[in-house]
Formats: sequence, structure tokens, C-alpha cells
Amino acid sequence: MKKQFKSILNEKGRSELPNILLAAAECAPLSKTGGLADVVGTLPKSLKRLGFDARVITPYHRCIKDRYADKVEHMFDFYVNLGWRTQYCGIERLELDGVCIYLVDSEFYFGDKIYRGGMAEGEQYAFFTRAVLDAIPNLGFTPDIVHCNDWHTAMLPMLAKTQYNGSMQEGLRWLLTIHNIAYQGKFGFDYVQDLLGVEDKYYTPEFLELNGCADFLKAGCVFADRINTVSPTYADEIKTAYFGEGLEGILSARSNELSGIINGIDTKVFNPLTDPALPARYHKGRLGNKKLCKLALQEQFGLEQRADVPIFAMVTRMTEQKGFDLVERMLDELMQYNDMQFFMLGSGDRDYEQFMREAEQRYKGRLCAFIGYNEELSHKVYAGADFLLMPSRFEPCGLSQMIAMRYGTLPIVRETGGLKDSVKPYNRFTGEGTGFSFADFNAHEMKDAIMLALDCYRKPEVMGSLVRQAMEADFSFDRSSEEYAKLYLWML
Ligand code: ADP
Repeated sequence: MKKQFKSILNEKGRSELPNILLAAAECAPLSKTGGLADVVGTLPKSLKRLGFDARVITPYHRCIKDRYADKVEHMFDFYVNLGWRTQYCGIERLELDGVCIYLVDSEFYFGDKIYRGGMAEGEQYAFFTRAVLDAIPNLGFTPDIVHCNDWHTAMLPMLAKTQYNGSMQEGLRWLLTIHNIAYQGKFGFDYVQDLLGVEDKYYTPEFLELNGCADFLKAGCVFADRINTVSPTYADEIKTAYFGEGLEGILSARSNELSGIINGIDTKVFNPLTDPALPARYHKGRLGNKKLCKLALQEQFGLEQRADVPIFAMVTRMTEQKGFDLVERMLDELMQYNDMQFFMLGSGDRDYEQFMREAEQRYKGRLCAFIGYNEELSHKVYAGADFLLMPSRFEPCGLSQMIAMRYGTLPIVRETGGLKDSVKPYNRFTGEGTGFSFADFNAHEMKDAIMLALDCYRKPEVMGSLVRQAMEADFSFDRSSEEYAKLYLWML
């Protein structure tokens, strides 16, 4: 066990590492719609290497059944009471990379869609919440900390503390991680009361109520013993009205119990030296092959084949969050007056997609808009581009900028959330930096950062050392899991 862990345990008067149960709606590689799944899939493996027994409880979605059914073991089953409804629930067990995963099985609630949307999603995850609470005492595993993630599991601490007193083990602690505060699980109180039997007295602004709704994430913020989010800057930002989405009050009040841990990336999957998706592999000492990746990308997508022109790329969901309004405002100005190429890989809002398609027509041979989701192509873009643009309005953590740096592609980011915490802006006096940044959500500030990047591109020594510095930065998940380990220990 690490010395650091031992000394925290000593201070707490304990000798053993706590058992952790992670509860989440998705868990990679079993089920995934976003970054949450990566954290829930990677964290327990990494914690195991640190000596913890960390397990996961997650729904048995159809996508899991289709791929893993023969490896899954039935443990026990029971009936879950959800108001007037009584539903079958099976608890299955799967061992994946040495990590035990409990799967909550219900044909009724978990089928094709991980998230059903609207009211149905409320019922889906109210069921999951009740099932987890009823199952915990029978798992044959006694967690010391239940680690909840986002609104889908945020009601767990409240129900445990208000309805299960006595039946849960003593000293059980609850951690809530907020991956994106924009999603809170808001429903009418009558509906939530009907599903989960919440007493009237909790429907007040002090507990569950927010803007006339029962808010699952708020309940988590009130009742969890500790709250964290996916970057230190985002932890500060969500205490303000601009970012807090109505939860800034409770989060400010609990600011001593709120912290941020930045996520990492899977450095085995994202490795330019071994990545099978790349036409040529490279490392920071052999960057010539990165040029080959660029030429191959240009050839495949009909861009002028020039190694001397910088490619600015975006690999992203095309939504307002990602700062597309700034891109719309500045794209023509940038493309008309500068020798540059632009590669867009993404999908999302129709208007943004249409804007990029039209831009492709205007700048044939210089701009490519690939509208869609394509994992393999994303690797080629990270390797082939010179700069990755991420002008987000808000960004809890962000992974694209870390992947880009790993591939020696310099991020140009707005200083918010995890972007601020992971990208060190270029300092023209010291030469330090791993990318470029701008502070305000303003198209001209973004343009200035892009112009600075273009300027650096013309200076090979500056560009070379920035690329090396970016590739040397450590974004492995092991770094994050050590932070989580310490957080768990301090919670005891
Ligand atoms: P968010 O989770 O808010 O969408 P992140 O930066 O945290 O943003 O993670 C996005 C992940 O999804 C990155 O791994 C990125 O490479 C990937 N991604 C986003 N859009 C696409 C796309 N169109 N095709 C392939 N991968 C994509």
C-alpha cells in the first residue's frame, strides 16, 4: 500500500483500505454514451492496482446482454416496489479485467435505450435506485463508500438516509460525482413521490425542490457526504450562477465538501506509437511520421496535399456547449485571409451541421466537414492535424484536448473547466506551454488565439518544442485514480 494512503488511514484510525461500490447508468466497455462510462470502466481497474476492492453496479442494458450474456452469472432475484408497481429484478455478476460488476436486470426497464428520455427515464432510474438499495445488503460485499455518478444515481444517498435507516451498514458513506451539471433529472414532485415514496417534508428548497420540480441531482448535492466533479476549475465554476444551473447555492454552501479531480484518458488506446488506425506511427522523437499522417488525411478527404499548411481540426459533438457560435462567426474571416485548412469531424445540431456543409462548398480543397461519428477517423484526425480547436462555452473536463496533446496536436481552448486545468497556454517569453487559450467567450479572442497559433506554426523551433511539451504531459488515468483514492480515504 502507498505510504501516503497508510498515513491517511493512520490519521483515521484504520488499517485497511475501504471497499468501494461505484453506481452508474453506464460503464465502458459494456455500455457507453459518453465520458461517464469511461470513468466508471477505468477507475475500478486502476483502484485495484492501488490495492482497493472497487466494484461496479450498473443496469443490464441490452447492448451488454448481446455481447456478454455467456459470461454473466445469476446471483439472486427479488421484486422491487416502486409505488404501486412491483417489478422483477435480477442481480447478475460479471468479472471483467478482474473487476466485479453487478448488473441490475429488468426486461421492463433496461432494453435498447440506456436513457429513455423524459418521464420514462425518471421511472427507469428510480427503479435502478430502489434496486441498488434493496440489493446492497445481499451482495456479499460490504462497501464502505458508495460512489454515485450524475443524476441517475443521485437519489441513492437521500433514500438511504431517509428510508433505510438501520438496514444499511453503519458508517456507510456516499460520494456524488457530477460529470455535467446541465443534466439534473427534474420531475414533478407528485411523480417522484409516487415512484419513490418521498415524504412531503422533503419537497422544499432546502432539500429536493428546484424551480418547482423535484430535482434528483439536487437531492444528491444535499445528502451525499462529499461531492466532486471532473476538474478543479469546474468545481469552482459550478458555485456561480453562470455555470451552476440553479445548484450554485447548495454547492457554495457545501464548498468545503466539494472538490474536482480531472479525468484521464486510456493512454494504451490513444498512443501514436502503436495506434493501428494511423497510416504511420510516431513518437515525440520521430515526428516526421506525423507529417505522413497529415498527407494521408489530406489525400483521403480531398484536401490540397501540402505538408506546409496547418490543419485546424475539431472532433466534437456539434452543440452550443462546444462553442460553435464562435466558429460560425469567425470561420469565413479566418479562411479568407489565412493559408490554413480546416477539418470538422462531428455531428449534432442540424444548423451547425448545415453551416459546415456549406462552408465545405465555399472552401473546396481547404475545408472538410465529415458529419457523423467515426471512432477510427477521429484517431486519424488527432494524428493528422496540427491544432485542435475547442472554444467551449463550458467544459466539465473534456477529453479531446488531452487526446490531441498525446498526438502532438496543439489544442486551442477557451479557459473553462477541464480545458483550463489541462492545457498550459503558450508563453512567448519562456517558451512554456502545451497549447493556446483565450479567456472570454468571444469570437475575436478566439481569433487572436488562432492567429498566435498560426504565427507559431511559421516558427519551427517554437512549434517543435510546444509539440514535444504537449506529448510529454501526463494524462493517464492512474493519476486521477490516485486522487480518487485519497478522496475516499479522507471521507472515512
Ligand atoms: P463530451 O463528452 O462533452 O462530448 P469530451 O471531449 O469529454 O466531450 O469527449 C468526447 C469524446 O468523444 C472524445 O474521445 C472524442 O474524440 C470523441 N468524439 C466526439 N465526437 C466524435 C465524432 N464525431 N467521431 C468520433 N469521435 C468523437
